[in-house]
Amino acid sequence: MLTNDQLDRWDRENFFHPSTHLAQHARGESPNRIVRTASGVYIEDRDGNRLLDAFAGLYCVNVGYGRPEIAEAIADQARELAYYHAYVGHGTEASITLAKMVLDRAPKTMSKVYFGLGGSDANETNIKLIWYYNNILGRPEKKKIISRWRGYHGSGLMTGSLTGLAAFHNKFDLPLSQVIHTEAPYYYRRPDKAMSEAEFTRHCVAELEALIAREGADTIAAFIGEPVLGTGGIVPPPEGYWPAIQAVLDRHDILLVADEVVTGFGRLGTMMGSDHYGMRPDLITIAKGLTSAYAPLSGSIVGEKMWAVLERGTDENGPIGHGWTYSAHPIGAAAGVANLKLIDSLGLVENAGTVGAYLNARMQDALGGHPHVGEVRGEGMLCAVELVRDRDTTTFFDASEKTAPRVVAEMLKSGVIARAMPQGDIIGFAPPLCLTREEADIVVDKTVAAVKAVLG
Ligand code: PLP
Repeated sequence: MLTNDQLDRWDRENFFHPSTHLAQHARGESPNRIVRTASGVYIEDRDGNRLLDAFAGLYCVNVGYGRPEIAEAIADQARELAYYHAYVGHGTEASITLAKMVLDRAPKTMSKVYFGLGGSDANETNIKLIWYYNNILGRPEKKKIISRWRGYHGSGLMTGSLTGLAAFHNKFDLPLSQVIHTEAPYYYRRPDKAMSEAEFTRHCVAELEALIAREGADTIAAFIGEPVLGTGGIVPPPEGYWPAIQAVLDRHDILLVADEVVTGFGRLGTMMGSDHYGMRPDLITIAKGLTSAYAPLSGSIVGEKMWAVLERGTDENGPIGHGWTYSAHPIGAAAGVANLKLIDSLGLVENAGTVGAYLNARMQDALGGHPHVGEVRGEGMLCAVELVRDRDTTTFFDASEKTAPRVVAEMLKSGVIARAMPQGDIIGFAPPLCLTREEADIVVDKTVAAVKAVLG
């Protein structure tokens, strides 16, 4: 077996890590972690640390780690048929079964699912399908996509553009010109503190209406949003937000893409976030919870309205020119089938609702009154603690102080993984949906201790 020192050297010499300070990593100035195994909500590294993963990897290991049912399904599939493509009507028992299981769990107006590998490529697929749709309908000008500041939709060229976070644009020549951003539904950071939630929703709607008026509705194809803003700060929408946005989109014939990469398959305590908030999407993006990340797999769920036009398009133009080699990969599909069965048999959607509510309530009780905690917020098995210099003015700490990263580093020392979200001092929690109350207590206790250690 390789020694830890050897692995550390090879890591720093050869491995280009995502979302990492490349120079510091290469110079050995920042810590690395070599993860060895995991079970339930705990991961273990090669240095013998056992850590409660309160972010489920990247909010993806929804059923928890080390589930033999999924490992066996993957092994059986690899032995029987590790790969065959899905082009020109090819499928496997796993991919066909999974498509049916996904549609059974999606809103009733959805029609088909296209499988990809990750959330980014699924959103790239969505935008291509939207453009194709409007071309088939003879509306070549109707192409722009509205996204929200603080939205996260991936790291590709188009999806990095849809993402409304500066770090994903700066120095990459993004966003592309077809993407325009509107107000984040971030009530805590509303422009006027006197606004009620309902007034802030009306403000977001007015901003959207103004953007549509400026650009022209006949140039705008779609609006994309996560039911709950995720990477942008774990921000549930203000009261009445989605129905109000939906009404504007309907009036201007603008499609809605619900990016459910995080919220799909139980995280909010309901099977899909679209149902949770009464959204009526034309496309739904799924990934993460589809396989609980036991294998890479994503999907674009296409609604009936778009599907009818896609069929017409291929009658007029021939087979659709869109395909990935690994689309509907049998191993990913087998993992997906086993994973969705587990979510049902273990009652994880319900657990996400009840234990998630417990986690949020305890976090609120424990930290809601702290002088440097601006807000504790969440929905289902998502929770965030926003740190501020001054509670009354909601002023941020200076970014150079790295306040949230210091709190998260302190938590790590006591054995709990949380995530310092990329913009603002926000500590994010998205544990596996199987979290117990006792584990939620550990998460809260260690968070409180770390906040006190760093901020007093
Ligand atoms: N959409 C949302 C809402 C996400 O949170 C993510 C990833 O975190 C993505 C898309 C991109 O998914 P991936 O990283 O699998 O490409």
